[in-house]
Amino acid sequence: MAVLSLSMAAAASAQADPGLKITRNGSQPSAPGPAENFTGAVRVDSRFSAEAPARVGGGLVTFESGARTAWHTHPLGQTLIVTQGLGLVQAWGGPVQEIRPGDVVWIPPGAKHWHGASPTHGMAHYAIAEQLEGKAVDWLEKVSDPQYRAARQAPAASSAPAPASPTPAQRLLGDVNPKLAQLTDDVLFGDVWARPGLSPRDRSLATVSALIAMNRPDQLRSHLQRARDNGLTEQELVEAITHLAFYAGWPSAVTASTVAREVFRQK
Ligand code: MN
Repeated sequence: MAVLSLSMAAAASAQADPGLKITRNGSQPSAPGPAENFTGAVRVDSRFSAEAPARVGGGLVTFESGARTAWHTHPLGQTLIVTQGLGLVQAWGGPVQEIRPGDVVWIPPGAKHWHGASPTHGMAHYAIAEQLEGKAVDWLEKVSDPQYRAARQAPAASSAPAPASPTPAQRLLGDVNPKLAQLTDDVLFGDVWARPGLSPRDRSLATVSALIAMNRPDQLRSHLQRARDNGLTEQELVEAITHLAFYAGWPSAVTASTVAREVFRQK
């Protein structure tokens, strides 16, 4: 028996490919994600870079809660394989999507995007990309807190695991004016509306009053719905319209009343 296992071991070593290389666990230290390209605590392990003519490389990237990459592109695209936690990925102008262990994400060449953890859960993924002329990534600006907060609101709004649906601004003008849609989501609703200095209800009352006074029925329509969601009753909104007739003019109040009727009927 001892002779048999010895001869099997000899045969196996004779067949071993001399070029085979195993980088042992623990032989290369964990590397932090550099602060200029990442927000929050990010660690990279099991880094690999194939030898020419192969040009694939990558590693296992672990993001603590709230951590994420900056916006960036990959000249030949990138594959992400999620191994742990709950993550987020977004292509520029597209919805934020949740990613979970076992999910495989393909990022097309040149597509501006970011990926990272959710605000409440860490996430780890293998990141695999090929180099073009020695380069696998082009880094861009950071994902700002308002951008990330807007991202957080989208998936949190529905508990379903389905991809986050486009925001109202993306639906309204994402095709014709994606920059204005992004500013609306990130700056107006992601930052200004989220500030704690006024309650959402009070912000809605101020906004609705301004839209009534300026006679802007199209924007008033969506803001009456939002006002109701933020806790203003239909009676309070009608009272505001009547009040504003004396400051903004009778025609504006009449137009607002007809818009209110339309919105209240929709429920
Ligand atoms: Mn990437």
